[in-house]
Amino acid sequence: MAQVATIEGERVESLAAGFSGVLLRSGDEGYEQVRRVHNALVDKRPLLIARCRGAADVVGALAFARSGGLEISVRGGGHNVGGKAVTDGGVMIDLSLMKGIHVDTAAQTARAQGGVTWGELNRETALHGLATTGGVVSTTGIAGLTLGGGLGWLNGVHGLAVDNLLSVELVTASGDVLTVTAKSDPDLFWALRGGGGNFGVATWFEYRLHPLQEVHGGLIAHPFDAASGVLRFFRDVSPKLPDELWVVAGLVHAPDGSGAKLAALAVCHCGPSAQAEQDLGPMLEFGSPVMSEVGPMPYPVVNTLFDEAYPPGVLNYWKSSFLHELRDEAINVLVERFAVTPSPMTAVVIEYFHGAVCRVDVSETAVPHREPGYNLGIFSEWTDPAATDENVAWARETYAALEPHLAPLRYVNYLDEDDVGNAVRAAYGPNYERLRQLKRRYDPDNLFRLNTNIDPA
Ligand SMILES: Cc1cc2nc3c(=O)[nH]c(=O)nc-3n(C[C@H](O)[C@H](O)[C@H](O)COP(=O)(O)OP(=O)(O)OC[C@H]3O[C@@H](n4cnc5c(N)ncnc54)[C@H](O)[C@@H]3O)c2cc1C
Repeated sequence: MAQVATIEGERVESLAAGFSGVLLRSGDEGYEQVRRVHNALVDKRPLLIARCRGAADVVGALAFARSGGLEISVRGGGHNVGGKAVTDGGVMIDLSLMKGIHVDTAAQTARAQGGVTWGELNRETALHGLATTGGVVSTTGIAGLTLGGGLGWLNGVHGLAVDNLLSVELVTASGDVLTVTAKSDPDLFWALRGGGGNFGVATWFEYRLHPLQEVHGGLIAHPFDAASGVLRFFRDVSPKLPDELWVVAGLVHAPDGSGAKLAALAVCHCGPSAQAEQDLGPMLEFGSPVMSEVGPMPYPVVNTLFDEAYPPGVLNYWKSSFLHELRDEAINVLVERFAVTPSPMTAVVIEYFHGAVCRVDVSETAVPHREPGYNLGIFSEWTDPAATDENVAWARETYAALEPHLAPLRYVNYLDEDDVGNAVRAAYGPNYERLRQLKRRYDPDNLFRLNTNIDPA
């Protein structure tokens, strides 16, 4: 054992010789903090954490892992609920020091490194009155979210994050550094738009930006005894929504810690003020909300509305799927099950797919979810480790009760650690076979497997 440790030690020293970032092993200052990801249920200990500063560091860390036969994980923002950004005993390629962002105002594009979060990117692009589709909360990494598709406030008008992706700088399994575009390598670019982290380490992303000064956004919360009516209202208005308006329905808990249950609508309208006021009218006039705070705000602000509901370092277990239709029977199950959730942090969220997202063909990118419909997230969150079993059981039982109403589709970025087999197939849908062929071409040894894995075999 001691000899193995010495050999590893010498190899780490040789990697360190040309490394611009930071290398951390157990016992080093910062190791305990950096190995942690968003979900505190994940408790893995990499042999080495390579905190990279650029593509050359990534190439070095990859070669180190490969030659030692060590498992590789790649961390962008660390938000993956299944903890796929971190390995037990392998090499964690951590991009969270890679924060470079450059906005080209003339071309209306932005380039951002793989460790950037949506809050950081939105802040820079907003300086120029520009934005692109990103995640709903500001702390999610651009990397994992984009590679898996990317849902967010601007979906209806600008499509998914991948629909705005122009190029990716990628370190491949063989250690090559490529700038991948639709022209340079159409197959690989196709696979990167929805195939997750299966095809390499993305060190830079380039996005198309759109003029956006201000949105009309906010939250409308109803008492929980109105929940069925709120969800039925959401179901009925969703198919009529204009592209500019994105509405998310949620069964949530009051943020004041009282544990009060609420039925909420979160809205974001990115059109002109007069149109926003008109389109938001039905949401504002519906029922008797206990809170209604909707108004003009900068886009980066709407991007922080849910941040407090998803703090880092709490315990998470998620179940998710799609519904083609939101029938009364499914609504009844959701409301009944939410009434008995064991944690006052848990939420059930339903995002409606419409507009620009659905005008892209199923096979145009690797993301297969292009039909209008309801993306359901059962997000169990709690703080007491002793309550883990009951919270996991609640999410699983809720999902099982809903199963008769669910479509055979899953969103790759919402899958948890135990969502394997059929869940992976359902996430890639009809694009799975093409993704497998490309995985065989670009990563035949499945070096990049800590992700929603596409099996090359
Ligand atoms: C609070 C919260 C809110 C969320 N909101 C949204 C939302 O609004 N819309 C949405 O679509 N999703 C959302 N998600 C899901 C999110 O898209 C996924 O968790 C995604 O994986 C996060 O990306 P990340 O870079 O933070 O994750 P990480 O955990 O760092 O990585 C996730 C996966 O991507 C791989 N990966 C990461 N970086 C790279 C890279 N540079 N190159 C190659 N592979 C890489 C990792 O290996 C891992 O498999 C949310 C998640 C959380 C926890």
